[in-house]
Amino acid sequence: MIRILIVEDERAISDLVKLNLSKVGYQCICAYDGLEAADLLEEQNFDLIILDVMLPKINGYELMEYIRPLQIPVIFLTAKATLDDRMKGLTSGAEDYMVKPFEVVELLARVNIVLRRYHKSESQLRFGDIVVDVENQTVTKAGSEVELTPKELELLVFLMRNRNITLFREKIYEEIWGTEYSVESRTLDLHVQRLRKKLNMGDALKTVFKVGYRLEDTHEVSL
Ligand code: CA
Repeated sequence: MIRILIVEDERAISDLVKLNLSKVGYQCICAYDGLEAADLLEEQNFDLIILDVMLPKINGYELMEYIRPLQIPVIFLTAKATLDDRMKGLTSGAEDYMVKPFEVVELLARVNIVLRRYHKSESQLRFGDIVVDVENQTVTKAGSEVELTPKELELLVFLMRNRNITLFREKIYEEIWGTEYSVESRTLDLHVQRLRKKLNMGDALKTVFKVGYRLEDTHEVSL
């Protein structure tokens, strides 16, 4: 299981990040100041660190000095939006930089990209008895292979990587088809229908009325 350290002193943001990363299947540990983070880094292994810049005791840039030798990828999370701060974040060795307030889906996408870059992303995604082999682009359901079109597969992977999160139609459409969503378009709905049918997903792939779709695990995620 991928382990993520969240270093953020604002409880509401820390909780939000933890909740959403947990929903999609990452194990999250929180530190609320720089010193606590440094202690955790000495004792435990992590695959990725989400790091706030302005932190009590040891700030994010200072903490980077501890992290760099450990070669754990870092995504900075900060309210500072100026170009100077962006440059400082990236030149200090961070992989990416997110400015608060941010969209959860955007954060998940960046986490995913960074994990893949470090070859830490799981090559198999599971949802119930559905298994997607991301590298070989194959899908099985209860052990039998299911034929999906490339777009159906992309859509399935996107839904699985953002499981338990309500995804706006527009967001899904832009992500998979790379163009702006138009309300008349039935493409997305047709693909969803076909996924439901081919993989017998039933209620797991939920339509969120007037909003979009959500792939739902049956078990609850707790903080
Ligand atoms: Ca802060």
